[in-house]
Amino acid sequence: MKRKSPYEQALERLNEYIDGHQMRHTPEREIVLQLVFELPPFFTAKELEEKCKAEHLTRGTVYNSLELFVSAQILRGVHRLQGNHATEYEVIVEEQPHMWVVCQKCGRIFDMKDKAVERIIMERKYTNFGVTHFSLVVYGQCKTCRATRAGRYSPKSTPK
Ligand SMILES: [Zn+2]
Repeated sequence: MKRKSPYEQALERLNEYIDGHQMRHTPEREIVLQLVFELPPFFTAKELEEKCKAEHLTRGTVYNSLELFVSAQILRGVHRLQGNHATEYEVIVEEQPHMWVVCQKCGRIFDMKDKAVERIIMERKYTNFGVTHFSLVVYGQCKTCRATRAGRYSPKSTPK
C-alpha cells in the first residue's frame, strides 16, 4: 500500500474532525490546508494570510481555519524562547524525523533524506530530554538558482 502524503493525512484528519463535531465541510478550508503545505515548515499566521490573499480568502476564514487545524491536531503553535516572535505554526501529522532544504532565492522547499544526520539526532542522549522526532530546515540555493547564478547548469549541486 502506498503511504499517504502528509497533506492526505492532514485532509483525512480534518474531515474526521469536521464530521465528529457536526461541522460543515467547506471548500475554503481545504484550500487553506493546501496552502499550509506550500509554506516553509514553520510559518506565522501573517504568512499564511499573505498566501491566502491570492486565493481571495478572507482574513476570518484564514484565522478560523488555523484555529480549527490546531484543534484537529494538524498544526501546533510553536513559541520561540528568543526574540519577540509571533507564534509560528508547524504541521504535526507526521511525527517523525523530517528534513527540508529551502532555497533562499526562489523559496522552493524540497524534502531531504539523510540517514546519517537522522541517526545522530535520534540516538542522542540528553540528561533532561528524550528525543522523539525532529524537524530540520537547511537553507541554501537550489539547482535551478545555482545554474542561473553561475550561468550554466551544474548537475553536481543537486539537493537530494
Ligand atoms: Zn531556487
